Amino acid sequence: MSDTPRLKITDIRILQFRVVKDVGELEPAWNPGGRMSIQVGGGSCVEVHTDQGLVGVGPGMDPSLLPAVRAQLVGKDPFDVEQHAASLRYYAQGLPYRGVAGVDIALWDIIGKACGQPLYKLWGGGRDRAIPYASLVRLSTPEERADLAVQLMEQGWKALKLRIHYETMQEDIRLVERVRQAVGDRMAILVDANQAQSSGDWQPGVQWDFRRAVETARELQVLGCYWLEEPLPRYYFHQLAELRQRVELAIAGGENNVGIHEFVQMLQQGVYDILQPESMVLNGVTALRKVGVLAEAFGKRVVPHHGGGNLGVIAHLHLVASWRHAPFLELLHDPPIVYLDELTKGLDPIVAKKIRAFLKRFVTQEKKSLLLTSHVLSEVDELADRVALIHRGRIPIVGTPDDLKATVGASESIEIEKAALPTATRGRIERLAPVLFAQERNEHWVSFGVSDAMAGAEAIIRVLREDNVRARFRHHTVSLEDAFVHHIGELGEKFDQ
Ligand SMILES: [Mg+2]
Repeated sequence: MSDTPRLKITDIRILQFRVVKDVGELEPAWNPGGRMSIQVGGGSCVEVHTDQGLVGVGPGMDPSLLPAVRAQLVGKDPFDVEQHAASLRYYAQGLPYRGVAGVDIALWDIIGKACGQPLYKLWGGGRDRAIPYASLVRLSTPEERADLAVQLMEQGWKALKLRIHYETMQEDIRLVERVRQAVGDRMAILVDANQAQSSGDWQPGVQWDFRRAVETARELQVLGCYWLEEPLPRYYFHQLAELRQRVELAIAGGENNVGIHEFVQMLQQGVYDILQPESMVLNGVTALRKVGVLAEAFGKRVVPHHGGGNLGVIAHLHLVASWRHAPFLELLHDPPIVYLDELTKGLDPIVAKKIRAFLKRFVTQEKKSLLLTSHVLSEVDELADRVALIHRGRIPIVGTPDDLKATVGASESIEIEKAALPTATRGRIERLAPVLFAQERNEHWVSFGVSDAMAGAEAIIRVLREDNVRARFRHHTVSLEDAFVHHIGELGEKFDQ
């Protein structure tokens, strides 16, 4: 035994981060008419401090839980995660995504730091890479999703997840068909029906019955999809099991299931082929690891839900890297969309026609992509008199004439330069720009994280970046610890609570 004294927890804090920018909103497929807002900065994280200077970090939590968490943990050994998970479950039970998952992740972070090992290694993992899938958020149109799928494939993504939420099954299947036609067999296609969002049997948007679930699954099977996710209400275990008996397609789910006992029941009753537990629902990774063991024992695969973004994603990355039965990592990724027709509406018809002709020629003949050269909404406004907006496929491109000249050649950019945008179009750009610049959140999602203990994730991320699979991580050039400190320095206004 080492002579080093045991670590002792001295405090738990919540760090709040300033919102640097409201980027915009989009409508998630599972909540028609609803809005998902996107920000740079914002949110919070949990810090667990120790008497030897080690500090663990994890996703944020509801500040009202802090007194109970402190009462349970201060003075204790951070290595006793099983004890802590049990007492926090009793004394500090929070809501999903606002509970004590971050405390549990921070404790594991301390353990990793104290051992000098990344968590996936401590958890016995042998893989140094994971395959992320692009988890799309919008419903959109079959044509747009097919274009996007090709772009993702060209960027190196190996899998994507579509949402199917049309009124009819025929429309849903057409969407998947179009994407399959576009990518051939070069991408795994996962499909999410999001029918288990409610703990009851009502939720917004289209609701499936058993027959639609079976018929959809059969169609998706023909289309070679990898899984159908949440085809029925969360607790319709008997119907889910029956569905699995009737189709060969893998059925996935579990992102909202609470407690290990629900997963035990689901496994015993043959509910899913692929489990998707979520640490932010299960109060941390201590419980999530057990769901992984259960899945293995029942011969199932496990692909955790997205971890709520930020540090939760990194924790899930370590879990996936430690499991042999985890084929993918979920990463929310739905790049901005701007429709050319929308952008050119109101333009002089001749100018609009020229822009379209230019784009068509550029995309079809040159097969190049243009750079997104402007990143700040106010800049777009200032530049509105001399920028042109064009897009390749459905990806919008903003460039000054010089940018475009450098990219496409002088003769082509002159055409663009002439296409000065009238005021009405400028207003439209302003409205669309929040979506346009949603890409900025990519940096945020990376720079939010993590620590030495999670440095294993850096290795994995680097592999992903080299493979060009994860565009989200491409701006990340410093160590994760540096990024975390930097992020606090740049965005953070520490509120010790
Ligand atoms: Mg889902």
